[in-house]
Amino acid sequence: MGVEPRELRCNACGAALHYEEGAAVIKCAHCGTEYALETPPGGVLEFTLEEAEEEAEEEAEPAEPERPPYEEEASSWLREGKKVQAIQVVRVHTGLGLGESKEYVEALAVREGIVLPARSAAYAAVVVAVLIAVAVSGLVLYLLALR
Ligand SMILES: [Zn+2]
Repeated sequence: MGVEPRELRCNACGAALHYEEGAAVIKCAHCGTEYALETPPGGVLEFTLEEAEEEAEEEAEPAEPERPPYEEEASSWLREGKKVQAIQVVRVHTGLGLGESKEYVEALAVREGIVLPARSAAYAAVVVAVLIAVAVSGLVLYLLALR
């Protein structure tokens, strides 16, 4: 009396697998999928799908994240001090919103060690422009009132 053959089925195609005593692998006669075997003494025959194991390994060790091309483009804008263009590049290529793209670009600048031009300079320029506009229109109104 031998051990009753355990019925195994191929995970990939469902065909019956024929196990040869002492074999290290079972190969599915139907689709060719190979299964590595582990036969603990007196235990249940276990089989694992080699393919699945490989996939799991790939997922386990993520590949070095590749730098997306738009990031290079955004980075070169940043190096020229053109933050707005860099944000625009990120927006177009990622579909992120303005705020998220801005954060992305600022994080990118930090990663790349790029010092962005101080925002206060731009604000100061706007404030000066507004003051001049107010002064000019005030002068115009004053001159009109004199007539
Ligand atoms: Zn199969």
